[in-house]
Amino acid sequence: MQRLKAHFGFDGFLPGQQEIVTAVLDRRDAMVLMPTGGGKSLCYQLPALCFDGLTVVVSPLIALMKDQVDKLVSNGVPAGFVNSSLTAAEIARLKDRASCQHDAGRIDKKNPQENQQRLKILYVAPERLALPEFRKFLQSLNVSLFAIDEAHCISEWGHDFRPDYRKLKSLRTKFPAVPMIALTATATERVRKDIVTQLGLRKPGVFTSSFNRPNLTYNIYPKKNSFSALIKLLRDHDNGSTIIYRVSRKATEEMAADLVANGFDAVPYHAGLEPPLRRDTQEKFIRGETKIIVATIAFGMGIDKADIRLVVHYDLPKSLEGYYQETGRAGRDGLPSECALFFSYGDKQKQEFFISQIEDRQEQESARLRLDQVVELCQIQSCRRKHLLNYFGEKWDEDYCGGCDVCSSPPGASEEFDATRILQIVLSTVIRTGERFGAAHVINVLQGTGNQKVKSWGHQELSVFGVGKSHTTDELRWAIQAFLATGLIARSEDSFKTVTVTEKGRAFLKTNETLILNKPKAAESDDSENTTKGVAAKGSQRNREPHGGSDRELFEKLRLLRRSIAEERSKPAYVIFSDATLWDMVDRQPVSRGSFSQVSGVGSVKLEEFADAFMEVIEAHVDQNGSKKIVNPDPKPRSSVYRAKDTPSQPSSTVHRTKELVEQKLSVRDIAQQRGLTDNTIINHIARLVVEGETLDLDHLLPSKPQLENILSAFRQSSGTQLTPVWELMENRHTYEELALARIGLLQQGAIILEGDKLSLA
Ligand code: ADP
Ligand code: ZN
Repeated sequence: MQRLKAHFGFDGFLPGQQEIVTAVLDRRDAMVLMPTGGGKSLCYQLPALCFDGLTVVVSPLIALMKDQVDKLVSNGVPAGFVNSSLTAAEIARLKDRASCQHDAGRIDKKNPQENQQRLKILYVAPERLALPEFRKFLQSLNVSLFAIDEAHCISEWGHDFRPDYRKLKSLRTKFPAVPMIALTATATERVRKDIVTQLGLRKPGVFTSSFNRPNLTYNIYPKKNSFSALIKLLRDHDNGSTIIYRVSRKATEEMAADLVANGFDAVPYHAGLEPPLRRDTQEKFIRGETKIIVATIAFGMGIDKADIRLVVHYDLPKSLEGYYQETGRAGRDGLPSECALFFSYGDKQKQEFFISQIEDRQEQESARLRLDQVVELCQIQSCRRKHLLNYFGEKWDEDYCGGCDVCSSPPGASEEFDATRILQIVLSTVIRTGERFGAAHVINVLQGTGNQKVKSWGHQELSVFGVGKSHTTDELRWAIQAFLATGLIARSEDSFKTVTVTEKGRAFLKTNETLILNKPKAAESDDSENTTKGVAAKGSQRNREPHGGSDRELFEKLRLLRRSIAEERSKPAYVIFSDATLWDMVDRQPVSRGSFSQVSGVGSVKLEEFADAFMEVIEAHVDQNGSKKIVNPDPKPRSSVYRAKDTPSQPSSTVHRTKELVEQKLSVRDIAQQRGLTDNTIINHIARLVVEGETLDLDHLLPSKPQLENILSAFRQSSGTQLTPVWELMENRHTYEELALARIGLLQQGAIILEGDKLSLA
């Protein structure tokens, strides 16, 4: 656990990791099936640090090896790789570092990138392991563990067979005592068995994780006015990288040209390019110098880029396996990312035509079947995620995932509704029943269903019993799903699926905020199967909202710093810090080493190396802008106090406490500090007091009269009551907090009015 933070900067394990690490530390063989981005590497890297000897990792792709080693070294882990791209002298040096005689103590403090510690992890290509000379060398070392990455390559039944992998068979005979862990993201039952047999794994622990990628949103768009829809998507995702898949080489070139003509930084990629150009294109993309790649499916194998925010299938994918794999390249860092597929019947017919040209009958049949499966995914009116996971043989009983176009209204055509009351009753019921039950029980209590279980716990006596009578089971189920997705409640990973209220949920109850959600599309409810127990482990809570409520500007500054450090060291940016780490910095705004070390992804080496530079930027930003950890929350889910509430309003005691402190003429900052709340919460309290007609003297919180006049004319100029346009119009002369307070002042004076649930100019 300590090593997890020190060397990798993580605060905990992702689902499945801990069990696997434990098995490996027990020196048991293991077979790991985990989706891309699930965190496979840690499963052998962490044990590698605990073992005395060397861990040898077999990996098929040179590019991947180099990335992995760069990341490890930047975290202070002595790692290296051997492949044909190194010179003989370099290999000799590595061998020297790996050998037992090597002095373990010499660490070059100033230059940890080149430290001379004894190697703990060595990456090798499979063909090298087959060389007798190399094997002899390995036998002279103390090898503690073999990790076989992309283990499906060993099976002819897999989609990616590599004959060299067959040579790994002999490892077991040559190193009978060394445990082995095989890892893959793609394997059917058959391939899995094949891996176990081929490698000669002994009673391996078999670990299968859910293939759900909770941070990916699956959206299917009609292929109609699709180019402008694409442009909108690209604009929406301009903070990260994008892959657009096209069916032909020609299409990639034309589309890249069209995008360039529209001002985007897009480059084509396909198997027909000259190898140097291909390599260059790929490298520029990995380094983030090119934002958009328009590619055939030749692109992607071995692309380990964490911050791909959007994967577009502009043409129909050829199979669901392909679709899952290609979309799987999005969001490897766990941050929300979108997978967009454009579908038209014309495309389907086009594909059918090509398939009819296939000569081999059997091949033709199977291509048609695969196409039908893709078309089915596009046509269903129920959850896309569920369909996809069921296809891969995974049980998934949720009806609404909240992360596909069917479950949440399609982007752009959102229909919002106030989910505050339903949230309140759900949270109260979860709390009142002791946070010990699954969703089904909570729903029974909400609906006042007095079944055996409810009675045996005496829950029919609770004040919340039946408070949700007016909602259908479907509505409540959907709402619980949406609250899970927004992190207001959580659910245990075990089979009990106990629902609990998170910190965020509790905070919500305290602050009387309003929750606005998008309505689900009218889904055909299917009552035939209402199972409440599930088997598959569901997604982790890694979902974050990089935009909602965070400080975009600070993120950009940190990103710039990261880029310049990366350039200085000629490393890809993610080797310095991942986007997830930068967002965590934005949220935490650490200004001391202690708090910096709390940031997810910051281990001891990175703390030492980078803390000062990053804290400098954070501090300067906070000085300039004030702390605005939560500003003007963006779209959904969003909270606003400027919403009429259907529950009788009664400012809670927490709001009253704020009122007392305002009356004592304290500043927002002071109130926030005194109460241990954020500035934003305090501002929300004040807004609420004003909306509810409390008489409150705000003068000491507002800008001067002439300033207030200027702000009002800026609101008028923006013809709205949103803060961001005004903030921009006024060229950062005021912080968000000042503007939010000014808006409250203007509301109090009647220059801004509340109509229904919307603010508008008087
Ligand atoms: P895979 O090889 O399964 O595709 P990786 O090993 O590359 O996945 O890990 C995916 C991402 O998850 C990486 O960005 C990694 O830094 C991150 N990660 C791995 N383990 C953890 C953890 N315990 N906590 C937080 N992030 C993690
Ligand atoms: Zn869904």
